[in-house]
Amino acid sequence: MIPFHFLLVISVLLILPLTLCAEDYYKILGVDKSASERDIKRAYRTLSKKFHPDKNPGDESAKKKFVDIAEAYEVLSTTSTRKIYDQYGHEGLEQHKQGGSRGGGGGNDPFDLFSRFFGGGGHFGHGGGHRKGPDMEVKLSLPLRDFYTGRDLEFSIEKQQICESCEGSGSADGTVETCNKCGGRGIVIQKHMIAPGMYKQVQTHCDKCGGKGKSIKSPCPVCHGQRVVRKASTLSATIEPGMSKGSRLTFENEADESPDWVAGDLVVILAEDEPALGVNDGERTDGTFFRRKGKDLFWKEVLSLREAWMGEWTRNLTHLDGHVVQLSRKRGEVVQPLAVETVRGQGMPIYREGHLHDHDHDHDTEEYGNLYVEYTVILPDQMESGMEKDFHALWQKWRKKNGVDLGLDLGRPVVSVGEVKDEL
Ligand SMILES: [Zn+2]
Ligand SMILES: [Zn+2]
Repeated sequence: MIPFHFLLVISVLLILPLTLCAEDYYKILGVDKSASERDIKRAYRTLSKKFHPDKNPGDESAKKKFVDIAEAYEVLSTTSTRKIYDQYGHEGLEQHKQGGSRGGGGGNDPFDLFSRFFGGGGHFGHGGGHRKGPDMEVKLSLPLRDFYTGRDLEFSIEKQQICESCEGSGSADGTVETCNKCGGRGIVIQKHMIAPGMYKQVQTHCDKCGGKGKSIKSPCPVCHGQRVVRKASTLSATIEPGMSKGSRLTFENEADESPDWVAGDLVVILAEDEPALGVNDGERTDGTFFRRKGKDLFWKEVLSLREAWMGEWTRNLTHLDGHVVQLSRKRGEVVQPLAVETVRGQGMPIYREGHLHDHDHDHDTEEYGNLYVEYTVILPDQMESGMEKDFHALWQKWRKKNGVDLGLDLGRPVVSVGEVKDEL
């Protein structure tokens, strides 16, 4: 009998030649056919970093993937070639290329494309002598609910980006000339006479090219020859249930870009929003006003005198995700003011670094902190006069019966332990 893994190898070999030349561009980028230009860009940004050969040294399959990703991006990011690909597939693109028009599948250097996104000549900081740009930090404020349920969210930041129009050259037609004054060095040496016959050499920035070493005849109209523009960039972040405020999410190479360096990292620091009335009232629950301390949650519940004293009450607390936590006492169960009740397992989900939660998680299998409910008792300061009379009469009756006399009670420190009962 032929071993199973052998069969597997044969079948893979049979399939390989087909898939090699016809792998779907949308599949390569992990997007569907209706993907927007932005979706395609984002997929490229993420995947090209992941499979960059610098990050996967010696891994041939990653290298191939990196090239495929670049090819897929080039085709799908250009409206004309995407249209051809959608209608006629790979063969259509082949014919299009043979027809002489440039652009589209393959042929372009995948590292060039990478550098158009991240700068630095298409490689990461280590090796190759490319500098890495400064890291950036931004604060992202979220309501407590998002820390409880977890959430995928999009946010935008404004940052310096390589100009797409001139692809970071700064030139409208793509031609950049070496400055003829400084010879491309960006600096010039000037001689100053400090005394007759004595000269001092002073190094200054070349005024012709502004120290860049290059000159551009027709500057790019979008970036005005600056090679970079400041604009908003949208990123998506995954907040895992139970992440703590102050958590730092690192987005590699998403800081300011420049053709001169590899973009540094963007660090997103999570902060917790103060709950506020009038904001997202539609999704407000009691939980919106929970206070969080680590893995535990805190809540203040108000009871009337009757409830605290006589019991027989129920409260339905709506938690952050809308589920209900019931608090209740039977008749005769007393709650002292400022008493704290521990409701086990109703705190925050416990998040562990590296442990990814399943998004449609089962509540029972997760670990949670506790919910601490502190009771505040409100005494009535106004009563109907009839009610006041009734209570007064009641106290009088029971005071007489138990023999409690307020006048005598004042005579401290005479203590007669035993039969004396609390006054109600
Ligand atoms: Zn430009
Ligand atoms: Zn110059």
